[in-house]
Amino acid sequence: MHQAITEPTFYCENSSSLLDPLIVNDIHILAYHEVSENILEANTRYHCQASGILNLHKPKYTQFKRKVWDFEKGDYDRYCEELRQVDWDTLLDTNLNNAVSIVTQKILDAANKHIPNDNKDKANAFNRYFCDQSSVDDSSTNIPELNLDDIIHTLDNIIITQEEVHDQLLLLDVCKATGPDSISTRFLKYAARELSYPLALLFNKSLQFFIRPILEYADTVWDNIPIYLKDKIESIQIEAARVVTGATKLCSKSKLYNDTGWVSLSERRSRHKIIKFHDMFHDQAPNYLCSLVPQQLYQVYNCNTRRAFNVQNMNCRTTFYQNSFLPSVIREWNSLPQDVGCNPSKFILKNYINRDIKKVPTYYNTGCRKGQILHARLRLNCSGLNEHLFQKNIVLSSLCICGHVESSKHYLLECHNYRLIRTQTISTLPRYKIQTLLSGSELISDEENENIFRVVQSFILETGRFGS
Ligand SMILES: [Zn+2]
Repeated sequence: MHQAITEPTFYCENSSSLLDPLIVNDIHILAYHEVSENILEANTRYHCQASGILNLHKPKYTQFKRKVWDFEKGDYDRYCEELRQVDWDTLLDTNLNNAVSIVTQKILDAANKHIPNDNKDKANAFNRYFCDQSSVDDSSTNIPELNLDDIIHTLDNIIITQEEVHDQLLLLDVCKATGPDSISTRFLKYAARELSYPLALLFNKSLQFFIRPILEYADTVWDNIPIYLKDKIESIQIEAARVVTGATKLCSKSKLYNDTGWVSLSERRSRHKIIKFHDMFHDQAPNYLCSLVPQQLYQVYNCNTRRAFNVQNMNCRTTFYQNSFLPSVIREWNSLPQDVGCNPSKFILKNYINRDIKKVPTYYNTGCRKGQILHARLRLNCSGLNEHLFQKNIVLSSLCICGHVESSKHYLLECHNYRLIRTQTISTLPRYKIQTLLSGSELISDEENENIFRVVQSFILETGRFGS
C-alpha cells in the first residue's frame, strides 16, 4: 500500500498534522493528487482537502441474450429424468470452472429438449396477446370527464408505508429473470432433487479449490502460529462443514469431520510438511532446501541400529523454534515406517499418510435437502430431540412427553406418539439397528441404504417433530 499525501491537512494554533491520507495499492493508478488551500474563513484552525484522480478502467458489462421459455408446456418429468440419468461423479471429476460449465450445460441441454423455446411460437404468443388487448369494443363507451378536484393521488402526496412495501415483497414472483448463465430459477426449482447432488459437489469443489488454498497458502511455514489463530482458521472449515451437513453449532468438530470425510486443516498442514520434507530428503526440491536436511544417524555415528536411517533431530533452545518447520517435521518424519520415508516415490508416501481418509457414502445425498439436514442432525447428535439438547445443557430434562428418554432410537423406533407414521414408514423396512437407520451400513448395497435413508427421512418429515 502507498500513502500519497505527504503534506499536513489539518492546521491548528501550534501544530499541523496529516489527517487525510490517500492510500492506493498501486501508486501508478493515481494520476494526480494534491492538498488544496484552506477554503474556510477561519485561518487559525482549519482543514485542507486532500484529493486525487484515479486512472482506472471501469469494466464494461456486456449484454447477454436471453431465451424465452414456454414453461407451461414443459415436460418436467422427462426433464428431471434426463438430469437423473447424468453420471455427475464422473462428469464433475474436473476443476471447478469446468464443473460449473458442465452443470450449466447439462441443465440447459435438458431444458432445451423438454421445454419449448421456439422463437416463432414466442412471437405468435406476443402477437395474440397484443391483438387481444387492442380489440376491445369501445364503440358504445364515452370518455369519462375528469374532475381535477377529485384527484387525490398526486406524486407529492403518496406515502408508501413500510407494510405496503412488505406486502409487495411477499407478492414477488419466484420466476425471476435469468442471469448471464441463462439458467431460469424454474429449472433449478423443478429439478431441485436431481440437482441437489451436483450442486453439493460444486460447493465442495469451490471449498476445495478456492477457499482452502487460501487458508493453506504456505502453511508448511506458519504451522507454529499460536493455537488461538489455528482455531480461528479451523473454524472457517468447520463452518463450511456445518453448511454442507446442516449441522448446528451443537455438533462436535470430530463428528462433523467424520460425516463430511474432510481432514482438519491442522492435520493437513502436518501432512503437507511431511510431503515437503520428502521432496527435500530425496533431492526433489531446490538445493537451498535440500541442503537444510540434517544427516541420517548412520552417517554420523556409523551405527547399524533400527533407527540408523532416522534423520538427526535438531537442537532447539526455544519452543517456538522447536515447533517451526524443520525441527517439527523431522520428529514426524522419524516416526514414519522406514520403507515409506526412504522410498523416493511420493505416491507411496501420500497413500500412507492419507490411508485413513474416509469416502463419504453417496447415499448421504438421498432425499430432499430438508430431510437430509434433519437426518444428519440426528446422526450427529445435534438435533432438537430432548436428549441432544439436554446433553448441551439447553433443556432441563432429556425426557420425551411420553416419559422416556428422547433419544434418536426412542424417536425413530419406540415413541408411541409416532406409532401410526412409523407403521407406514420405518416398520415397512427389514429390522435394522438404529446405527444403520442413522448412518447406513457397509454390509448392504447402496440401493438398500438409499431406501433406508428415504424412508427414515419421510418419517422425520411426516412426524413434524422438528417443525413443519
Ligand atoms: Zn416418546
